[in-house]
Amino acid sequence: MISVNNKEFLFTPIVEYIISSEKVAHVQIGNNAEHALLVLTKTGYSAIPVLDSKYHLQGLLSMRMITDSILGLDHIEYERLGELKVDEIMQTDIPFIKTTDRFQKGLDLLINHPFLCVTEEDGTFAGILTRRVMLKQFKKYIYSAQ
Ligand code: AMP
Repeated sequence: MISVNNKEFLFTPIVEYIISSEKVAHVQIGNNAEHALLVLTKTGYSAIPVLDSKYHLQGLLSMRMITDSILGLDHIEYERLGELKVDEIMQTDIPFIKTTDRFQKGLDLLINHPFLCVTEEDGTFAGILTRRVMLKQFKKYIYSAQ
């Protein structure tokens, strides 16, 4: 069992660890599935946020969601990629965290998700918090506590 005497780091604001919105690949409501597939393939990310025209977070889109949406009975209906909109196939019940939340909340949620979307109080997309960045920080605290 790992024991850390100083647990103050659990209360540090997550805002310090966010990958800011301008560096995050995303798609917008109204974009078609073909565009989203291009973004996902070119960036190599497994999932990306979906934003509306006001930059508010609306959902998440993954390669799997796109593939599922064009699965026919006996073949993949590639021709539908151009007509399907990302808002028809995205996942909307997604976990997210606010810029004012603390390290501990991020850590708890990241156990089940490789990254979390981060929003301002008004729902504006601020960026993402990844498991990789949080684990790096966690490792730093553990090593410096020895
Ligand atoms: P990583 O920590 O780099 O392995 O990223 C884990 C996941 O977070 C990726 O597969 C993406 O879904 C998402 N992600 C990380 N960085 C970005 C980014 N700059 N833009 C969009 N999504 C990202």
